[in-house]
This record gives sequence, C-alpha cells and structure tokens, in this order.
Amino acid sequence: MAPAENKGCNLSTALARRVVTVVVVLCAATPSVASAQTLTNTAKLIGGAALGLALHESAHVAADFASGVSPGIKKVTFGPFPFFAITHESVSPGREFVISSAGFWMQEAVNEILLTTHPELRNDDEPVLKGLFAFNILTSFGYAGAAFARAGPVERDTRGIAQSADVDEPVIGALILAPAVLDTMRYFGVRNRWVVWGSRAAKIGGALLVVKAAR
Ligand SMILES: [Zn+2]
Repeated sequence: MAPAENKGCNLSTALARRVVTVVVVLCAATPSVASAQTLTNTAKLIGGAALGLALHESAHVAADFASGVSPGIKKVTFGPFPFFAITHESVSPGREFVISSAGFWMQEAVNEILLTTHPELRNDDEPVLKGLFAFNILTSFGYAGAAFARAGPVERDTRGIAQSADVDEPVIGALILAPAVLDTMRYFGVRNRWVVWGSRAAKIGGALLVVKAAR
C-alpha cells in the first residue's frame, strides 16, 4: 500500500504542482496580458485624441482657405501650457466668425456622428473613437472655462467668435458648453429626446450666430 500511497501522493503532488504552475503562470500572465491590453488601449485613446486635435485644427485651415486667406502658425501659451494657434490676416466679421467657429463645428459634428452611429459607445470596444469623443468634449469644457474667465491667448477661438458676432464671450462659452454637457449625458446613456434634440439645437443655434456676425 505504501507504494500506492506514495504513487497517489506523488500524483497529487504532481497535480498540485501542475495546478500551482498553471495558477502561477496565469497569475503572472494575466496581469501582463491585461497591462499589455491596457497599454494598447491607452495608446489608441491617445491616438483618438490626437485625431480630434488634427480635425479641429484642419477645420480652421479649411475655413481659412475657403475665406481666401492663408493660414499661419503661431506659438501661444495657455496658462502654463505651450500650444500653437492657427492664425490668419484680419477678415470681415462674418468670415472671422466662420474661421474661429470651424474647430467647434468640427467637434460638434463629429460627436453627433459618433453618438448617432455608436449609441452604446461607452460599452463599445472602440478606444480610438472614445479618445476622439473625449478630446472633443474636454476641449469644449476647457474653451468654455476660458470664455467664462475671458482668459487665455488672444487668438483663442471663443474670443474671435464673440468679437465677430458682437456677443459677450461668456455667452459664447455657454453655447460651447451646452452641447458638450448634453453630449456627455448621451454618452452615459441618457436617451431622453430633449437631451438629444437640445444638443442638436444648441449646436445649430451657435452656428446660426453667423447671421449676426455677417450683418
Ligand atoms: Zn481652434
């Protein structure tokens, strides 16, 4: 019996060893697989945010060319952060309104497309789109804050919009903030049609100020 017991004992030892090995390997592998995935997802999120920045700036550039002015680039600072601004020669208020608004129009249109084509974006495995969406929302929040405080570089979009439309800059801040808040609610699953259409109306309403600027 002793050999059998020994054998049994060895078998369970072997099994136990194998289980421990599997557990150890799993324990070692799981976090590294998870962190590799986290790393990839983070890189994709950042890529999406960079895409958002590129889209915002290229909208200004496209509006510049559409207005017949050549865009320039200028280093500016936003608080402690060095940044750049797309600049242009002075143009009529109507054109200035369009050029300064173009970045926000791009963000708001892209978010509208994202929320319409991906109503469950928050639960979707789409890190690039999430990064893009987050950039658009956070940029609007940041600009709204700058507009309320009337702070930041003179080239800031909200100042250009406010001056060309002859509206107080904080009002422009509110027009930028409203769709960002409503789109955030939509992202977190609020399907209420007042929220959805309120967001769309705020976006269109902000763009309609172009009539005031062009007068
Ligand atoms: Zn801009």
